[in-house]
Amino acid sequence: MIREELSEVPEYVPGKSVEEIKRAYGLKRVVKLASNENPYGASPKVFEVVKNFRDFHVYPPKNPVELKERISEYVNFPEEMIVVGDGLDGVLENVFKMFVNKGDIVAIPIPTFPYYEILAKIYGARIKFLRRNENFETVEFDEKAKLTIICSPNNPTGNVENFEFVREVAESVKGVVFIDEAYAEFTEKRLTKLAEYENVIVGRTFSKAFGLANLRVGYAIMNENFAKEYMKVCPPFPISTLAILAAIAALDDIEYVKRTVEKIVAERNRLEKALGKYFEVYPSEANFVYVEAENSDSVCYELERRGVIVRNLKNFRGVRNGIRISVGKPEENDFLLKTLEEIF
Ligand code: PMP
Repeated sequence: MIREELSEVPEYVPGKSVEEIKRAYGLKRVVKLASNENPYGASPKVFEVVKNFRDFHVYPPKNPVELKERISEYVNFPEEMIVVGDGLDGVLENVFKMFVNKGDIVAIPIPTFPYYEILAKIYGARIKFLRRNENFETVEFDEKAKLTIICSPNNPTGNVENFEFVREVAESVKGVVFIDEAYAEFTEKRLTKLAEYENVIVGRTFSKAFGLANLRVGYAIMNENFAKEYMKVCPPFPISTLAILAAIAALDDIEYVKRTVEKIVAERNRLEKALGKYFEVYPSEANFVYVEAENSDSVCYELERRGVIVRNLKNFRGVRNGIRISVGKPEENDFLLKTLEEIF
């Protein structure tokens, strides 16, 4: 009875949890540098609103107008162009619902975030995997694609895409270009401005720099007509009121976000240098570092059993011997480096 398309769909595998590793190896201290979370957590203002929330029995709004207004100010695009979803994952699913028919071409540069391929397969798309150059910049596109995905900064490689190239893609393809800017706050080199193109959608999230991954708030900038159609495919109550209030509180304390981003970027620079002793390190514009090592499997295992969880990219399409290491707090990064020294 299950749709035939699902036979081709791999299940999304998240990073391992701290509890899992503590139990498996009987460890007291485990540091997780595997899911690109903000190690400093959300702003204290978020804790205030969450503490005072009582309306659990009431449905959230279908259209969270105030949150959209605040996002609109933040990204500098009109409110009519803002849509929200349960995480950027939820936004992505709605975008696939809007545009992808069975047999349509969905173009995905690899390696990248695996959920695009999962969605493309669920919707029965024909997937065209796009090539990247030695710096992992995408270097080709398919004019016939109904949906082209651009992830910048890219998960897991950390690089940004070339602005002019993505503009060329937007001007050349027949379909829609979805630019995933989940990690936008960690770079100055954003592509957000390209949302001015009618066929470009820019997706963002509160899960990374804003530290709200558990509350599931994502959003996108798209042309006004798309935004109207989006409301048809979006499930009735995509985000809880608690999450809406938390996201607004997080935007109220943008200074806090900026401070944590600065600390993360400083640590990223330190890690990039220090990791060079053990790995081939690629420059990152996100809150993680992508490295390669011939023996990546055993490195991940040796780190794990000593209490450091990193992301082994073995199952990422188009990756050979890659490891993705999220930037933690200074003491967490020290623990990683100390453990690597021990292993090597
Ligand atoms: N896009 C990219 C590139 C990501 O790395 C992630 C997080 N894993 C997402 C989207 C989904 O983020 P969210 O938590 O907002 O669903």
